[in-house]
Amino acid sequence: MSFENILKKYFDKTYTEIEFVKRTYEALTQLGFNNENTIAGKCICRDEISQSIRSVIKYMWGEAFNFSSLAGMFFAGKTGLAAAMHHAPIKDGKERYVFYALPHVAINEEGRIGVCKREGRAGESTACGALAAFQKEMVSGKVNLTMDNEDVEQSLIRMRLLREIPYGHIPDLFELTKTTLNAIQTDLETTINKVVDIKKSDYAVITGIQINGPDTNYVWPAAFYAVVNGKQIQLKVE
Ligand SMILES: [Zn+2]
Repeated sequence: MSFENILKKYFDKTYTEIEFVKRTYEALTQLGFNNENTIAGKCICRDEISQSIRSVIKYMWGEAFNFSSLAGMFFAGKTGLAAAMHHAPIKDGKERYVFYALPHVAINEEGRIGVCKREGRAGESTACGALAAFQKEMVSGKVNLTMDNEDVEQSLIRMRLLREIPYGHIPDLFELTKTTLNAIQTDLETTINKVVDIKKSDYAVITGIQINGPDTNYVWPAAFYAVVNGKQIQLKVE
């Protein structure tokens, strides 16, 4: 089976990272956002195989504020978001922000979820490793719910994601990735609602799942909308 057909098994539509960022950029220019008047923010995993989209965002929007934690969780909070806002250009009396938020999952050439290869390492590796580790703990029946000060981000991942998972249910890695996407988007939106003043700012939220394929990364788009002059406008990646 070709990798495109494998992708179709799991996702209704996917784009390369370049297509995805370019199309979202173009759609947003229609609403007054561009690389001169907008600051971008990104929330993606720390994994090096996730970083390629950073270069694409930089190419289209300029250097972006980095909200990223393990698994792409949004733990930067009000302080992180407020910092990004204070760095935004002010053009025509407005600040403009564009937020990209994407957890990730690998799919190998056989269609196995979570499996990837790493340069210079024999055998198979896992992505997202942080989510896979948490999923394994759930399977084992023992999840450490304390804050481990030597493992802060992973502790926060467990605590945050368990709020989204019905008691006793163990999602597989694919389902857990979608759960993570929902948590990231919810936390980002909750914080935006508290911090962003829509009277003086326009912003856009772009979410999806980054798929680490055998040769390159893809994106399945989830939410895409802008808030312009206080009104929410639903957009489509196309
Ligand atoms: Zn990861």
